Amino acid sequence: MQLIDGKEVAASLRKEIKAEVEKWVAAGHKAPHLVAILVGNDGASQTYVGHKEKCCGEVGFRSTVLRMAENTTEEQLLAEIKKLNENPDVDGFIVQLPLPKHISEQKVIEAIDPHKDVDGFHPVNTGRMISGLPSYLPATPDGILELLKYYKIETAGKHCVVIGRSNIVGRPIANLLSQKGWDCTVTICHSRTKNLTEVVKSGDIVIAALGVAEFVKADMIKKGAVVIDVGITRVPSDKTKSGWKLLGDVKFDEVSPLCSYITPVPGGVGPMTIISLMKNTLKAARKEIYE
Ligand code: NAD
Repeated sequence: MQLIDGKEVAASLRKEIKAEVEKWVAAGHKAPHLVAILVGNDGASQTYVGHKEKCCGEVGFRSTVLRMAENTTEEQLLAEIKKLNENPDVDGFIVQLPLPKHISEQKVIEAIDPHKDVDGFHPVNTGRMISGLPSYLPATPDGILELLKYYKIETAGKHCVVIGRSNIVGRPIANLLSQKGWDCTVTICHSRTKNLTEVVKSGDIVIAALGVAEFVKADMIKKGAVVIDVGITRVPSDKTKSGWKLLGDVKFDEVSPLCSYITPVPGGVGPMTIISLMKNTLKAARKEIYE
């Protein structure tokens, strides 16, 4: 069994992006500028935005965080988005999700100029992705592709089973792996799938993205399968200083001996997500997707 080390892959890509940024700046351009809008006081969101800010610094980007109060109205947020859309000094921006309940996430996503939508959530970008056109790929699926590439994992003709059909993970990764170049035969499972154990057991590559801690057990996995665990669930723990620990969607101890490759949680897919956001921001600054 080979452990897929997301931290190592992320560090290697971070170096590559940093070198590209240095070249870009040396050629007389401004450093790429990423803006994150953070609405409210959600603890996990603050942590994620903090990590994104730190990574921007590491690769040589400029970064700005716009903090807005929990009671910000949808109108106020849409007005801020309009300003960023029109600001030529901003290459790309994200609105950290989830948003407070009184704001429509879909409306917000669709208000972002697709040219600056470095999260890749705008329907124009998802539509282009599905059509195989250049687009900003959503970060987590792109991170998974980078892991498969780095470890030279064969995908052509393999049966890939994706558990979960969300717009940010399950659906896009299933689509991308079915495209030319990856060439998987893909099955998507979801909460209404029948005979889930048998379906998952037929997977050469299993991507677990359902958000149920340790859902995937040894009896669901074929010997030699590649297992990518996207899930992150916080559970209380008396063994950590913080009082909680992270669990993936895969019962690692019993599944890992069966696998050819497996990602751990934490340290697998997680570190890759921010890297993909950096890749998209660099593409936005260089106007690689649309111009
Ligand atoms: P989501 O809740 O939007 O979607 C979950 C999907 O799983 C749904 O499509 C649902 O049909 C399916 N599902 C739920 N229960 C199921 C069951 N019992 N059997 C089969 N399918 C079932 O979740 P999401 O946003 O896609 O996130 C999934 C997990 O991945 C979460 O734990 C989330 O925290 C994590 N995540 C991690 C990263 C990362 O960077 N590592 C990024 C995004 C999400």
